[in-house]
Amino acid sequence: MLKTRRPAALSAEVETPAVGALDRVALERERRLLRGLLEASASMHEALGLDEVLGRIATILAKAGRFSGVAVYILDPSTGLLHLRATVGVSDKDVARMRANPFPMAEMMPLMRPEMLISRSYLFDHRRDQMPKDSILDTALSVPELAPGWRPGLWHPLDSLTIPLDDGQNRLGLLSLDEPVEQQYPDLATVQALELFADQCAATISRAHLHQQLEQLAMTDSLTGLHNRHVLEDALARELLRAERSGRPCAVLFCDIDHFKQVNDQWDHATGDQILQQVAAVMRQRLRRGDLAARYGGDEFVVLLPDTDIAAAVEVAGDLRERIEAAPAPRPVTVSIGVAGSANAGLDGASLLAAADAAMYLAKRAGRNRVRKTRRAPRALPNTK
Ligand code: GH3
Ligand code: MG
Repeated sequence: MLKTRRPAALSAEVETPAVGALDRVALERERRLLRGLLEASASMHEALGLDEVLGRIATILAKAGRFSGVAVYILDPSTGLLHLRATVGVSDKDVARMRANPFPMAEMMPLMRPEMLISRSYLFDHRRDQMPKDSILDTALSVPELAPGWRPGLWHPLDSLTIPLDDGQNRLGLLSLDEPVEQQYPDLATVQALELFADQCAATISRAHLHQQLEQLAMTDSLTGLHNRHVLEDALARELLRAERSGRPCAVLFCDIDHFKQVNDQWDHATGDQILQQVAAVMRQRLRRGDLAARYGGDEFVVLLPDTDIAAAVEVAGDLRERIEAAPAPRPVTVSIGVAGSANAGLDGASLLAAADAAMYLAKRAGRNRVRKTRRAPRALPNTK
């Protein structure tokens, strides 16, 4: 990957093999590179998740591009920071440190100066180029070991090839390539082949970004930003399986705003919407990591509490109820909450939700603005597996 140490005093002499032999070797290398990149690029279309795409890019560059060290950085346009997202040939310790230290794009400039350009990429050549003192890259990056048998003229650990990932309009990130297996500096044709692949990567990354945004939209309730009903139902099914295997409890809260029709009628729909957002905000603030809050529909919210027994869930519900009542909403509202727990093995998500919903109606009937739990543990379904 990129450099952390200064170049030691190094000889700049280059041993040059006979020209004809070099040409043949270089041609064979390019053919192999192109064949490898072509075969590999076809497989990229199958991957949709961004992390999967980036992992594949790194592997392809290592295998087909024949680099022992590969790092893929993605730019976060909102912060201008480069994030390490995939690597090959970097130790777990270095990966952990580098992932924890995203750095500004501008800090890469010492590795991307105009005099380093080959085609659209940048070759940092330790025989010619120097890292500035106190560069942030000293902590953000890692340097491979000097290969045994290294001699002047071969690729050195301080060298690196940086290929921009651009989608035509925007910079999406960078590919950083180190340690070519043959220890040769890449020539123009090799760099151009890698760039064609990088362009394809950029297009795939853009598609993955779009897919991620779509997925996010499909999972989120647009008014409150909470998860939607589908996400809740999937998560509940998974959590119940996990609870059954581990013997740990889980609980759900079914929460419905009291007299919400009146709120809408008395004020207006926009005020009603603000109240829904306020209730969602209280839930987000109060819940733990790992809990999942969803807008189930209309004025109904469901909260999934993993690793929580019914007594603890009743406490959480009580606290939520109080906070919602006290919240500086545009108009005061209260909620009724029903609590059910997964005490019975083999229970399915729909029956647990139905049990919490039934408990919520008990709270409504008892006068609203209160918490009720299921009277009896819900009946376990016969095991049909
Ligand atoms: P209860 O105490 O029995 O729950 O009475 P309620 O008036 O709240 O009755 P119910 O829960 O059945 O009514 C839900 C109301 O929520 C119906 C509808 O007017 C309102 N509502 C549903 N979705 C939205 C929304 O997206 N925005 C707004 N402003 N109101 C909504
Ligand atoms: Mg209601």
